Amino acid sequence: PAKPVFAGELPKGLQSISNIIAVSSCKGGVGKSTIAVNLAYTLAGMGARVGIFDADVYGPSLPTMVSPENRLLEMNPETRTILPAEYLGVKLVSFGFTGQGRAIMRGPMVSGVINQLLTTAEWGELDYLIIDMPPGTGDIQLTLCQVAPLTAAVIVTTPQKLAFIDVAKGVRMFSKLKVPCVAVVENMCYFDADGKRYYPFGKGSGTQVVQQFGIPHLFDLPIRSTLSASGDSGTPEVVADPQGDVAKIFQDLGVCV
Ligand code: ADP
Repeated sequence: PAKPVFAGELPKGLQSISNIIAVSSCKGGVGKSTIAVNLAYTLAGMGARVGIFDADVYGPSLPTMVSPENRLLEMNPETRTILPAEYLGVKLVSFGFTGQGRAIMRGPMVSGVINQLLTTAEWGELDYLIIDMPPGTGDIQLTLCQVAPLTAAVIVTTPQKLAFIDVAKGVRMFSKLKVPCVAVVENMCYFDADGKRYYPFGKGSGTQVVQQFGIPHLFDLPIRSTLSASGDSGTPEVVADPQGDVAKIFQDLGVCV
């Protein structure tokens, strides 16, 4: 694959990370954070050393989705580096762990804060850093991609026809940056009831995505009350039910990133 486009020298904090995976979506509320967190804990369950960087400073979800004991990031006064929070062995950095709630600031400042959190964190040696990207494909996302040399991207969407346009935008952004999109996850795709499978938002746009953009993997994730409940409770679904069918879908996704 072509070398990713990122500006300048690799920041010291990122030098011992083997793979940086962006989980991205064009809109909020499609399940991007849910997928980033469950993917991270799936990889950790497979024995990998994993970190999650929640880059969404306007609406950080990580503090709700996982429950580390220490919910505030600590700064090492000598090295001026940040000690990540940790839950079940996964290192966690989020604006939501800085004690400042949600950010109210302009784009360039947001980029500065994101880059500082990402590059001054003591990630140590990691096999995977999962970045929960801010929704969209604007300046903040581009700047972030220039700071972190991304290995691959996973695009999250919902099955509606309209969402197809979003996927196209995401694929275009990553292809400009020479980052391969390895998978599309169609979230909230179906539910099972009375022995039947229902597709409330229709079917078929996923196949169109695979054909048109040549993305090698497509995953359908069901609408599942346990997924939303686990997101609210602080224990990821794949941790709460490691043998369940949702966990199996994430294992397949984990293998392809
Ligand atoms: P985003 O990061 O795209 O804004 P989130 O991951 O925060 O989206 O998900 C938005 C809401 O939808 C959360 O409450 C989450 O628990 C819920 N959710 C996400 N995926 C599913 C799913 N497959 N089934 C049920 N609820 C889901």
